[in-house]
Amino acid sequence: MTAAPTAQPPSPSATTLEFLGREHGHFIGGRWVTPASSATIDVYDPATGERISRVAAGGAADVDAAVRAARAAFEGPWSRFTAAQRSAVLWKVADLVQQDFQRLCELEVLDSGLPMPLAQYVCGMVVPEFFRYYAGWPTKIEGATIPAAPQGKLPGEAISFTLREPIGVVGAITPWNSPLPMVMLKVAPALATGCTLVLKPAELAPLSAMRLAEICQEAGVPDGVINLVNGTGESAGAALAAHPGVDKIAFTGSTEVGRMIVRAAAADLKKVTLELGGKSPVVVFDDADLEQAIPGAARACFFLQGQNCMAGTRLFVHEKVHDRMVEGIAAIARAMKLGPGMDPTSEFGPLISAQQRERVAGFVAAGRREGAEVVCGGAAPSRPGYFFEPTVLARTRDDMTPVREEIFGPVLCVQSFGDDDLAQVARAANSTIYGLSGSVWTRDLGRAMQMVRRIDAGQVSVNMHAAIDPAMPFGGNKQSGWGREFGKEGLEPYLKTKGVSMTW
Ligand code: NAP
Ligand code: MG
Repeated sequence: MTAAPTAQPPSPSATTLEFLGREHGHFIGGRWVTPASSATIDVYDPATGERISRVAAGGAADVDAAVRAARAAFEGPWSRFTAAQRSAVLWKVADLVQQDFQRLCELEVLDSGLPMPLAQYVCGMVVPEFFRYYAGWPTKIEGATIPAAPQGKLPGEAISFTLREPIGVVGAITPWNSPLPMVMLKVAPALATGCTLVLKPAELAPLSAMRLAEICQEAGVPDGVINLVNGTGESAGAALAAHPGVDKIAFTGSTEVGRMIVRAAAADLKKVTLELGGKSPVVVFDDADLEQAIPGAARACFFLQGQNCMAGTRLFVHEKVHDRMVEGIAAIARAMKLGPGMDPTSEFGPLISAQQRERVAGFVAAGRREGAEVVCGGAAPSRPGYFFEPTVLARTRDDMTPVREEIFGPVLCVQSFGDDDLAQVARAANSTIYGLSGSVWTRDLGRAMQMVRRIDAGQVSVNMHAAIDPAMPFGGNKQSGWGREFGKEGLEPYLKTKGVSMTW
């Protein structure tokens, strides 16, 4: 771990500083409005621990105003947009994201601790490409004609078909770990299908979501199509999940809060999709190309400082290649340059908060107590900000706390296996309540395919990990979620089907 003091990182641009300095209320009905209460939430740069901005702490009254605006836009001007016009808006959002590249990158880095090259990849590629992918869909959302015989009508006496209609007002609640992509995943399919939104971004990292709401407005959506209420989950989030004017909740966050969302939505049985936690396995066989598998497994766990739902945090490695894998990953971890994202040479940023760092340290301490060997890392370096070293725990077992629970930090737990009984390897990989992602590393494609079938996860990659793409469905099995995002399947939760039969 290189933690040499660096020169002061570059200062944010004037447009970013202007944005940070604003009094951030809520975005409702196409403009920033004064919050119902004067309570605010401070926003911190996790690389320094310094306050960088402040947003309103919204509550039920703000949420109610936003839901009303979303309903009016849904029933009014947005419903008169043609599919081609919605496409044009989505394409324009992508262009405007790229035009606002520098500010969005800086907001994302300062707010969530992302290293700058990653923020550049996200704001320059991931987000615009995702909006462009969904820009292709509005003109291709089709129902079907059904060869039915309603009430005994003969062919030619009746026709039956389906209409695909937007589900309505969507409440979107997102986490802080990768703020802009998390919001993008809700906004793009909602706009593509003709829904309207009320967004509750994470209180720990709300900045890029606010800018994206403005960008959608600048791209030409009518007032009220996209609304944003800042605030805590307990207050604004809970009010949104329970609001009777919301037709669907699209939630990304922890499994624990996911359960609360389901309970809140149960009162009026609103539709719910959930993208929740993970504890994904990385399975490395003895014939794997270690030149790929070593950096691949390191990236799988340490990407976003491990604050990544897909993180490959449980490494199962064949005993013949165990030591080389562990030493190789530890060498990468030790060499990573830790530092603030604004310094373009930083490779590994801070955790989101002091609380998150304590939580991670607690899991490492539990691992030590329960008999794991700390191969590298395991501590917070003494410097400002909420940094924690990338950590490898070897000799772990299924029953250890850091192996069982989602840490959401840079802690890799290694277990080895001795034989090639694929059913047994898969059982170990599946011994978690989660089922989000996973990867298999081998040159034997037959073995790879058998493992792909056996791993109970919404996404499995071979000789790569977390291979996401706008067109590829992504989501969780077991307690990792309900439904899918990305791709054509990602549109489905925003649509409802109406069966129509007609005679004359
Ligand atoms: P979290 O604590 O569950 O919070 C997620 C969002 O829910 C935040 O906006 C939060 O508000 C809000 N919230 C909290 N309590 C609520 C309530 N009672 N009612 C309504 N909303 C409420 O998760 P997090 O700590 O931000 O993010 C980390 C988790 O997200 C991890 O478990 C990770 O695996 C998961 N995640 C999953 C995916 C995926 O695609 N499957 C992607 C990214 C992250 P606050 O801002 O006040 O906390
Ligand atoms: Mg939280």
